[in-house]
Amino acid sequence: MSTTKEILSNLKERNPGESEFHQAVEEVLLSLEPVLAKNPHYLNTGILERLVEPERQIIFRVPWVDDHGNVQVNRGFRIQFNSAIGPYKGGLRFHPSVYLGIIKFLGFEQIFKNSLTGLPIGGGKGGSDFDPKGKSDGEIMRFCQSFMTELYKHVGPDIDVPAGDIGVGGREIGYLFGQYKRIKNGYQGGVLTGKGLSYGGSLGRKEATGYGLIYFIKEMLRVNNYTLTGKTITISGSGNVAIHACEKAQQNGAKVIAMCDSKGYIYDENGINLDTIKQIKEIERKRISEYIKYHPKAKYNEGQKGIWSVKCDIALPCATQNDIHLEHAKQLINNGVQVIGEGANMPCTNEALKFFLEKGILVAPSKAANAGGVSVSALEMSQNSMRLSWDFEKVDEKLQNIMINIFKASDNAAKEYGMEGNYIAGANIAGFLRVANAMLEQGVV
Ligand code: GLU
Repeated sequence: MSTTKEILSNLKERNPGESEFHQAVEEVLLSLEPVLAKNPHYLNTGILERLVEPERQIIFRVPWVDDHGNVQVNRGFRIQFNSAIGPYKGGLRFHPSVYLGIIKFLGFEQIFKNSLTGLPIGGGKGGSDFDPKGKSDGEIMRFCQSFMTELYKHVGPDIDVPAGDIGVGGREIGYLFGQYKRIKNGYQGGVLTGKGLSYGGSLGRKEATGYGLIYFIKEMLRVNNYTLTGKTITISGSGNVAIHACEKAQQNGAKVIAMCDSKGYIYDENGINLDTIKQIKEIERKRISEYIKYHPKAKYNEGQKGIWSVKCDIALPCATQNDIHLEHAKQLINNGVQVIGEGANMPCTNEALKFFLEKGILVAPSKAANAGGVSVSALEMSQNSMRLSWDFEKVDEKLQNIMINIFKASDNAAKEYGMEGNYIAGANIAGFLRVANAMLEQGVV
């Protein structure tokens, strides 16, 4: 029987150089200590050792031909982490920073996130070090087709259901689905989620992660006698999560004053014009610096991290992992921040999270707060299985209920283990218990 510290040091030895994976596991294991002290049977049955070892890891070559006729080679990944409560489920990330450690951290987080949704989905994640920036539509299509030509062997509606993540949106899912359908010679809509509405996608999926983040925050604020109305918000990122978080925050009477991309951030004291952001990012696929051409009174600054020096009531990191380090956390607190809502996966370092908690800041942790996307993915799978589609209102209502329930589960677990208000630990514990109990009931597999 190993202690959590032994499991962690063993994990670091067995998975060298995968710092993001180590970070994600450390954060979870430390918060589980009170649960393990009360319920030693989780330690006695090797649940933790099994949880941190993926069920299956697939790494493959993705060759494709660029527009100049040159052969390019990328690396593809799919980590099928845990299937205790349902088929593996999680997105695909296409970004040059992708390597095994990133996909494993994301897959590990996904186990707990998916468990928290209360829906029957296991944890998985995949992607490639392919950089979609500056690629033509044709190049993106050929890459996706090559990627699926290997991936199809490992996925299926009851096996593993990928979706989007950074660099993978509706366009990429369309190309991936087209190739899967062609290879399989059958229409298995439920093999991917985030599909287009014309071929089995769900209304509300595009909005789900950003909207879900705000639904979670609203519930957290309600319980803590605080409200979104009139608050100033900074949002890092300008992709799908950031855009829809901004939209829902604005609908709730908050003022979003800054957003960024990987090059720099814009500050608009009158409130960000979201239509302009959508035009630049979703249609033109250009830099956020273009914003000041439309709104000359707004300011653009190079360097994305500068966004954390902007004074705000609520900060929503919706870009990528390790966006807020301890120094940024200190800056935010000096400027009076009250609430942190993690829209991206693991956007705060463990040191930053610890600091926020010490200072009494309300933190909506990513595994819980950004679970809206995968929740509506699971609703998309249900609709595909039933061969029908629900209207937007029905999906949105279900999403709101799911996010409120995730908050309640995190809140209750935190209270039960003596950490009231620590929703980070609460989410980890609630997510863990469902998966761990399912694993126990299924024997040593
Ligand atoms: N990539 C998203 C996430 O991090 C969504 C996954 C999905 O819809 O399967 O949860």
